[in-house]
Amino acid sequence: MPQKILVVEDEPALQETLSYNLEREGYQVEVVGDGIMALDLARELKPNLIIMDIMLPGVDGLEVTRVLRQEMNVPILMLTARDEEIDRVLGLEIGADDYLTKPFSMRELVARVKAQLRRVRMMREEMGNGEKPIEDRLVFDNLVISLTRREVFIDDEVIPLKPKEFDLLQFLAEHRGQVLSRDFILEQVWDWGFSGGSRTVDVHVRWLREKIEPDPSNPNRIITVRGLGYRFEG
Ligand code: CA
Repeated sequence: MPQKILVVEDEPALQETLSYNLEREGYQVEVVGDGIMALDLARELKPNLIIMDIMLPGVDGLEVTRVLRQEMNVPILMLTARDEEIDRVLGLEIGADDYLTKPFSMRELVARVKAQLRRVRMMREEMGNGEKPIEDRLVFDNLVISLTRREVFIDDEVIPLKPKEFDLLQFLAEHRGQVLSRDFILEQVWDWGFSGGSRTVDVHVRWLREKIEPDPSNPNRIITVRGLGYRFEG
């Protein structure tokens, strides 16, 4: 089955060039020209990758990306008109995976698309096939997380974790290498309505570190990214 790419772009000429070049590479391409329709189509299509223009009529590409990020784990390649938008685009608030500044060459675009799809595929393989797990364990050196048994082992010894500590560790581990903000972690691991505040995340991270880090005061598994959040290194 061909991989599906959703192109969110309102300029007809660029819509056409993008679909032509991507279809020629064997991708199935859907094009949509406004933000609201992009959200609906992304939910329905579940694309393998999204190319998102920032300047769109109605809801802009940044807002659409921000919403989609919370719903699905799809690589998003942003098209920006100005270089100064890049910090925001790649930052946590929006969280695009890559960007291209207009004008760009189709060769460059196709290369970036392939790189993103390759990254996802490698991540899946590394995690033991994300879509249909044959293994239900996440393994990071001597740290093993058994998802079905909800148990964590270090050097084959069970590490007792509270339910929320386990949830947090699983979430971090499934997003290995990604910088995750406290708010995003809170939303995903705790409930939407949970009002404990992002300090809750810090406290649980501290507890987890005490259990899984060789040296909790100098962590190398759960890294603090100053001003941004946390990153699980493995
Ligand atoms: Ca546009």
